[in-house]
Amino acid sequence: MNPPRNSTAARDVASVLHPYTELKSHLTKGPVVIARGEGVRVWDDQGKDYIESVAGLWCAALGFSNERLVEAATAQMRRLPFYHAFTAKSYEPLIDLSEMLLERAPPSVDGAPMSKVFFANSGSEANDSAVKMVWYYNNAVGRPRKKKIIARLKGYHGVTVAAASLTGLPNNHRLFDLPIAGVLHTMTPHHYHGAEPGESEEDFATRCAEELEALILREDPETVAAMFAEPIMGAGGVILPPATYFEKIQAVLRKYDVLLVADEVICGFGRTGNYWGSQTYGIQPDILTCAKALSASFLPISAVMVNDRVFQGLAEGSSQVGTFGHGFTYSGHPVSAAVAIETLRIYDEMNLVEHAATVGAHMQAGLRERFAEHPLVGEVRGTGLIAGVELVEDKAARRNFDPARKLGARLMALGEQNGVILRAMPGDSIGFSPPLVITEAEVDEMLDRFGRALDALA
Ligand code: PLP
Repeated sequence: MNPPRNSTAARDVASVLHPYTELKSHLTKGPVVIARGEGVRVWDDQGKDYIESVAGLWCAALGFSNERLVEAATAQMRRLPFYHAFTAKSYEPLIDLSEMLLERAPPSVDGAPMSKVFFANSGSEANDSAVKMVWYYNNAVGRPRKKKIIARLKGYHGVTVAAASLTGLPNNHRLFDLPIAGVLHTMTPHHYHGAEPGESEEDFATRCAEELEALILREDPETVAAMFAEPIMGAGGVILPPATYFEKIQAVLRKYDVLLVADEVICGFGRTGNYWGSQTYGIQPDILTCAKALSASFLPISAVMVNDRVFQGLAEGSSQVGTFGHGFTYSGHPVSAAVAIETLRIYDEMNLVEHAATVGAHMQAGLRERFAEHPLVGEVRGTGLIAGVELVEDKAARRNFDPARKLGARLMALGEQNGVILRAMPGDSIGFSPPLVITEAEVDEMLDRFGRALDALA
């Protein structure tokens, strides 16, 4: 059906090239036009309300309204709407936000604190920046061959050329001529699908670490620079690391002097029930990237934190060539930084991390009680306020539906009819990552609406 002529939907179809959309069928189907938001809900232009089960794109941690953030942005726009940090310029919001992030950072390798913060605008840019820092660092310290980067199949690190290469999903590579040379992928640590019959989580984690070690040895450790990993793999299907995974992975990385970059773009700022996913899983990264909830998504901003070893290498390199030749016009934009500062204050004042842990436990229990036995559900998994519900055709064989049946997309459409915006990922996994401010009553309502959509699919 074509959208009505001259409607907002028709104007969209005539003018917008949508990200992550089936471009051809969009020409006939048209968009859902979201007109406003409040709390955990958004409303479309017909006045229908939806609970946002994924906080937009795993990001609107304070929901879709917050006057303090509006004030923080407005005040900063009046005071200094733009400045930059190139050529040693600075401004208070940049310094304040750097300090706040370092105060909150998880410990780096051997318990040492993170040392410096670099800002960008998106998770992809943060990860691309981290890749470039790793290369620059190894050049500066005299290891020009040590450049390859390892990521994981089903990992998601963004869409810019380097970040999309790290991403381990076929749609981000096929037709884009990616990944770039020097990016390697190791196995997905998903016990549900990857384990042999009867294999414990610990044994499976050992096998994941052995595969990583074999990959490093095959490539030559002198050529492998870093590994990127999300604490919980988000867009690849909400895949939790099996017990002891990161302990074993980190032992391998240290053995071959390979840096670990924790991609906390989704997991950071309370999502897993701790401030960082790294704390939930005992990760001590050399470099940490974050974005999304950093500003509660009121404005774009992302950050790369580096430990002192990496920073000293970068400083050494820049003294060799003149400057550290990397940065965006809007690296640490003052208005975004002011909003991020206010966001982090609000998180502290609300004890939002504890709230996420408490309400998260309620959400996890609700998802398991209501849906684990559902005939279409293979696995319910998650911790804190992040979860995945994976649809399967055959529960015993753990076999997914043929992708051509588009179960996930159909469930998203049924969700919309039932007043909940859902996010389907590869393998028909449905992600839950609601605003961190969600209440238990709102979780129940979200699960009611999801349940009605799922039953309609059955
Ligand atoms: N890293 C992770 C773990 C993500 O989930 C995402 C986006 O969902 C990104 C990186 C890319 O962030 P952005 O879309 O802001 O570029």
